[in-house]
Order: sequence, then structure tokens, then C-alpha cells
Amino acid sequence: MSSSQLAARTTSFDSSGIRKVFDLAAQLTEPINLSIGQPDFPVPQAVQDAAIEAIRSGKNGYTVTQGIAPLRERLQQRIEQKFGHGDRQMLITSGTSGGLVLAVLALVDAGDEVIVFDPYFVMYEPLVSLVGGKCVLVDTYPDFRVDPGKVKAALTPQTKLILFNSPANPTGIVAGEDEVRQLAQLAADHGVVLLSDEIYSSFSYDGPVVSPAAFNDQTLVLDGFSKSHAVTGWRLGYAHGPAEIIEAMTKLQQYTFVCAPQPAQWAGVAALDVDMAAAQDIYRRKRDLLVNGLADRFEIAHPGGAFYVFPRVPWGTAEEFVSRAIENNLLIIPGKVFSRQDTHFRLSYAAADEVIERGIEVLNRLAGEGP
Ligand code: PMP
Repeated sequence: MSSSQLAARTTSFDSSGIRKVFDLAAQLTEPINLSIGQPDFPVPQAVQDAAIEAIRSGKNGYTVTQGIAPLRERLQQRIEQKFGHGDRQMLITSGTSGGLVLAVLALVDAGDEVIVFDPYFVMYEPLVSLVGGKCVLVDTYPDFRVDPGKVKAALTPQTKLILFNSPANPTGIVAGEDEVRQLAQLAADHGVVLLSDEIYSSFSYDGPVVSPAAFNDQTLVLDGFSKSHAVTGWRLGYAHGPAEIIEAMTKLQQYTFVCAPQPAQWAGVAALDVDMAAAQDIYRRKRDLLVNGLADRFEIAHPGGAFYVFPRVPWGTAEEFVSRAIENNLLIIPGKVFSRQDTHFRLSYAAADEVIERGIEVLNRLAGEGP
């Protein structure tokens, strides 16, 4: 097929950065893999059982668009307890990604501007481009904190949405209460929708995650089970926010995803009763293992959550440093996949301790080598 047959939106972004890394990875035999964006712990037994039981008992068809009542009601109860907003509605989505797609479709028109903090989760920019929107990047280097002054300066009459993510991919940074409150206030003052991607909310090691919804009742929150319960392939997420936005997203879901997979939704109900504290403690320890292991040779903004570390490269560009790492059988991701800058690289510690230790050894050795 000639590319001229393709819609223009397919050329409005490219996937070369991350694809290059995975192409290289395919050539490695048993790489030291610190590139994976999903948990390495097993799905809790009760959650597995609930999915299997749902399939065996015939819960395999479509569900209502907004998701099965037992899951929606349990989640609704939780968020009412947490925020107490009268107008906050709930929608079960096909993964948090599904929620992101619906949110961008519901909120962004062609020509609208969307504020995105750089570095950012890889999906944000292409999604905004798909609907003809324009990403306005707000630089957060070197500490990856939200500077309200910079956000204010980036706001224009075209600004429709702010995409915010804490704990963050790729930096692991958990935003502090002050910055979250100021961002929430700024969005409220300017009548701009604030979307808070909280998919890593259950991985916060040094204190609770503060949601901007606590300070701005119009905040649209996306969350999901992919990371919290290690079910990235099940496609189960949820969105909650002002009724008007959730109703528009529900209408869009009806004609796109239809519903989240039914067995996963029943497993989601069971997941709400599983205590994941032990898995979170293990990840806190892995975070410490990796950060302490690199502290002497790498500059790292302290990652309080998720399962990523985003160190500055000790020499060269991130692409050069990552190429050298890959030559040494270590798989990591260069910063430019997530950023306009190519000065940092992403490590994931969702891996066995032994893999993390081998990674530390290679990285410290490469840091000493120089370009
Ligand atoms: N947001 C962020 C910040 C993520 O890192 C990811 C997954 N890597 C997602 C959303 C999408 O998650 P899901 O598997 O629920 O679609």
C-alpha cells in the first residue's frame, strides 16, 4: 500500500525511538533487561481465580458500557470516601490507555493546546496529535518538579487540557503536596481540565500520593489495575471525574472499545480485597538497591514511586550511552523516547534482584569508561 492512502494522522508522530530499542533487544540473547514497564511479581492467586471463575461461569459477553455494577460501585464508594465530591462519576475503561484515548477524544479539538510535562509517558504526544491537538511541553529538568510559574507561562487561550502523571513514568518522581495544590488551583483558575494519570498510585515508597482531585473537584483521574496487580495484558482501568466528562467518555466508549473485558472486570472486584503491601515493600527495597548502587557515579533525582529511575548519562548523549549499554548486553531506554532532551535514560527495577545487581555493575563500569 502506498503511504498516500494512509490518513495524515498516521504520519503526525513516529515510533522510531522505542522501536529501535526493541529491535536491538531482539538481537540480544538473554539481555540484562531493565527496560520493562510492567511488574515482575505474579498476579495474586485470588485475582487469577476470579478471572478463571468468571470465564468458566459464562461471564464472557459484553458488559454495559460503563462497566459491571459490582466493580463500579466498589470503586465509586472508595472515591466518594476519599474526595467527597458530589458530581464525581466513574467509568471502567480498557486499561488506563483506553481511558487516555477516551479523555483526549472527549476533550481536545483540532488546534487545542495540551500542556505536557517533559519528560512524559510515551503515549501522550501521539494521542494529542491524533486528534489534531498541539502539545505544549513544560520542561521539568533537572529535578522533574512542576514549576507553577512555567505552567502559567505556557497557558494560552487555546489551552484545553493539562496532562499530569505522579508517580511518574519515566522519572519515578512523586509530586509533593504544594506543587500538586498549586497545579490544581492553576487549572481551576484558568478553566482548563486537569487530567491526573495515577496508574502508579499504589507504588509510592516515601509517603502517600497526593491527587490534584483533592484540591480541584473538576480533575479527571485515570487509574487502573495493570501495574498494581501485574495484569497489564488484561486491559482493566478506570476513570473518574466530573459527570459531564465521564458521560462524554462513556458515549465514546460505546462506539470504540465497547467495554473493558468482562472476566477482567470480575477479577478487578476480587483485586480490591487483596492487600498488595508486600509487593510494594519489595519494590521499595529494589528502588533502594538500584539507587544506592548507582549513587556514586550517576546523578539521580530521587524517585519516590512507580518502578523507574531516570539518571543523567555520565558522558555523551543518552543514545550513545544506551548503545554502549546494549553492546554490553544491558537493555535500557534513552531519554529522547520520553523527551525533547537526550541526556538521561530510563531504568526499570521491576526485575529480579540478581538482574538489577548485574545492571548496576555494567552501568558503573560504563560510567568509568567514558565516550
Ligand atoms: N500511563 C502511564 C504513565 C503508564 O506508564 C502506562 C503504562 N506504561 C499507562 C498509562 C497505560 O497503562 P495501561 O496498561 O493500563 O493501559
